[in-house]
Amino acid sequence: MTLSAPLAGGRIYLDWNATAPLLPAARAALLDALAEPGNASAVHADGRAARARVEEARRAVADLVGADSRAVTFVSGASEANMTALVPEIARDTETLVFPRLLHSAVEHPSVMAGGRFAPADVRVIPVDSAGRVDLAALEEEIARTVAETGLPPLVSLMAANNETGVLQPVAEAAALVHAAGGLLHVDATQGAGRIPLTLADTGADLMSLSAHKIGGPLGAGALVRGREGIRPRPLIAGGGQEGRGRAGTENVPAIAGFGGAAREALAQLSRMSQIQAARDWLEEHLRLMCPDVVIFGADVPRLANTSAFAVAGVPAELALIALDLAGISVSSGSACSSGKVAVSHVLTAMGVAPDLARCGLRVSLGATTTRADLDRFLAAFRTLVGRMRPAALVGAGRESGAGDGRD
Ligand code: PMP
Repeated sequence: MTLSAPLAGGRIYLDWNATAPLLPAARAALLDALAEPGNASAVHADGRAARARVEEARRAVADLVGADSRAVTFVSGASEANMTALVPEIARDTETLVFPRLLHSAVEHPSVMAGGRFAPADVRVIPVDSAGRVDLAALEEEIARTVAETGLPPLVSLMAANNETGVLQPVAEAAALVHAAGGLLHVDATQGAGRIPLTLADTGADLMSLSAHKIGGPLGAGALVRGREGIRPRPLIAGGGQEGRGRAGTENVPAIAGFGGAAREALAQLSRMSQIQAARDWLEEHLRLMCPDVVIFGADVPRLANTSAFAVAGVPAELALIALDLAGISVSSGSACSSGKVAVSHVLTAMGVAPDLARCGLRVSLGATTTRADLDRFLAAFRTLVGRMRPAALVGAGRESGAGDGRD
């Protein structure tokens, strides 16, 4: 089975956590939908055909996370899903639950760090340990403090997997703490979906955010999935009655259809993660052989199989990104470069990484079509770079056994 088309120009794409290449099933569904007119709310046959595409996608996305399809609200992406979920008023059946505070970890995506629709004074940030996992004792304390000071439980937001390091959060343990106090848990599953088995039931999530373009779907579609019967955050976009009154605006039918195609294929591909993990582990083994003082973040804790975040002191990420780009290789320094600038990662900072080393943090993220030859080329280019920036960091030429020999 072809998993995705090779990238043009012989470039090597090792930035799957930023955006994964479009999967064939996603491309097919997207193009089919683009070829047809149709507003999914229109009652005529064209409208009904568009509606059928949206509902088929809804089932596929629901299946990806073990949800009922009625629990899926399509939005524009995970940033919007997060912003929609993180609101002080969440309806449950006929009552409105009010959350006086939002608690989230210190390593969340900026779209959660922004605090959603909570006033800044009502947001509490929970620290993480040196591996980047949320401190559950601190979370429990902050939940208790919220209840003691306000008489009400908080809304808690935790990511399933970190976009920069791939480190998995103990979401099920966190859910038990949140639920024991009567609170709700939102899980940003953007990076975990399609990469680890991840269901609403296993995580205990009451709300879950997903993004199409991280799982091989098109840009511009995402979903907020409700884990509990009857829960409805106050809509972010009010107006028309689309998405069961959960999100006004004409549905982006092609992007949603592509999202559905990707969700089906991603679910079927979960079993291939062990191959990706073997490639990632091979890369890290050779990085260590090449630069013995390389620091690999989160290496000792459960993390995504496709992600490697590391730093070699004295090799700044800003220069590495440019040099690797010129060598035809796309990697990232983490989410901090979204504005085109490389800032010190808040994730590495929260993990207690010294600023000088954090400035050298690179992220290589792999996917189903990544080959050993791709990784060889990366290692060869990185070796040249380290040789220029900090030659003392390298072991003797050729000692990195196998790296650079073009094997697939
Ligand atoms: N959460 C996480 C963990 C992410 O990695 C991202 C994308 N970098 C987002 C949210 C935002 O997703 P989107 O691009 O769909 O808005």
